[in-house]
Amino acid sequence: VITRADALALDAADPLAPRRAHYVVDDSVIYLDGNSLGRLPRATVGVLREAVEQQWGQALVRAWPGWIDLPSRVGDLIAVNLLGARPAEVVLCDSTTVNLYKLAHAALHAQPGRRVIVVAEDEFPTDRYVLAGLAASCGAELRVVGCDPDDGPALEALEAALDQDVALVCLSLVGYRSGALLDLPAVTRLVHAAGALVLWDLSHAAGAVPIDLQDGGADLAVGCTYKYLNGGPGSPAFLYVRRELQERLGNPIQGWFGQYDQFAMGLAHVPRAGVARFLTGTPSVLGTLAVEQGVRGLAEAGLPALRAKGMALTALLVDLVEQAGLLDPDAGGFALASPRDPARRGSHVCLQHPQAWQICQALLERGVVADFRVPVRLRLGPAPAYTRHVEVWDAVDRLREVMAARSYDAHPSAVGAVT
Ligand SMILES: *Cc1c(COP(=O)(O)O)cnc(C)c1O
Repeated sequence: VITRADALALDAADPLAPRRAHYVVDDSVIYLDGNSLGRLPRATVGVLREAVEQQWGQALVRAWPGWIDLPSRVGDLIAVNLLGARPAEVVLCDSTTVNLYKLAHAALHAQPGRRVIVVAEDEFPTDRYVLAGLAASCGAELRVVGCDPDDGPALEALEAALDQDVALVCLSLVGYRSGALLDLPAVTRLVHAAGALVLWDLSHAAGAVPIDLQDGGADLAVGCTYKYLNGGPGSPAFLYVRRELQERLGNPIQGWFGQYDQFAMGLAHVPRAGVARFLTGTPSVLGTLAVEQGVRGLAEAGLPALRAKGMALTALLVDLVEQAGLLDPDAGGFALASPRDPARRGSHVCLQHPQAWQICQALLERGVVADFRVPVRLRLGPAPAYTRHVEVWDAVDRLREVMAARSYDAHPSAVGAVT
């Protein structure tokens, strides 16, 4: 039996335990949604205050020389510390959605003989919508690969979808719902063997699992910074283009921030050298400064330690749900809707139950923040940078109480507008 004292002992021995003090934390709430919106780092409060009061408030336009290189400076920080990429392969700009469009468009147009984009059936909706729109507007075909919603796309299914017509394969390294973690080098080898390029969406992976884009042979990647990277709501996304591909690919949105000699205001668009050609317009300065602080915090913690703790927390969560007798769908409990092996998933897990929405609301009422994903899944993300083992223990204990008393029945079954 895993007791609350056991969870406290795990916290006492946890090398990352002191990291929690680096975040703004309200101890009255157990926050298990760091994979959706990461906590606010304390350092960010001071940095943003200074940027607003001194830089914006006093220096105004004179602050631009210090701001103009932020997309590349913070891009390099992410590349080296979180993505296993080289400097000058990553920039921060726009949203993940827009960056996905830019890179997918570039990959398609760099290979005129190939007209197919491959995507997994349960890929994050914005990715599927963007790729469907891109395919429709370019006379290309979107080939959708079926997959198990809880286990992620299988290598064999991906392989079967590949042929000499495929230009691009777009996949999430960690599934947004199941948390299923793909084998980046293996998938990349498969895609390259078919002569296509691979575009990784790292939104639920960056900051949670070690990533090695360079050694793994990855071509392209995008990802969010407001999840595990703690950049704040709507903070700019990152994009990665492998150095060897940069001069072959073009940005479909030819903005002035991607322009060579930007302030010469030339008539014709001449792309900048390197990954900076994928910038578009004026960067979000405050958002980028916030991302810098978020990434520094993760770099201090170190990805191997974050990964080890992420696996320990999700494994503890699943073990406790099982110990409470709740991992039994036939007895009114849950089915695990994620891979059981912690090495095969990111830092979040999903539990399936027909009344998952109501259970999520009942947990919220008891001070546990999780979220709901269609269809009928309760998603729990104990972010390793600041979540304690005892919080996982307490959260599962409250879940046990909610299930025993069926207090969730009192909540409306109609799903809210934002989940
Ligand atoms: C969160 C997430 C996004 C979000 O994209 P935005 O443009 O920031 O809204 C995209 N893809 C994946 C896989 C995500 O998890």
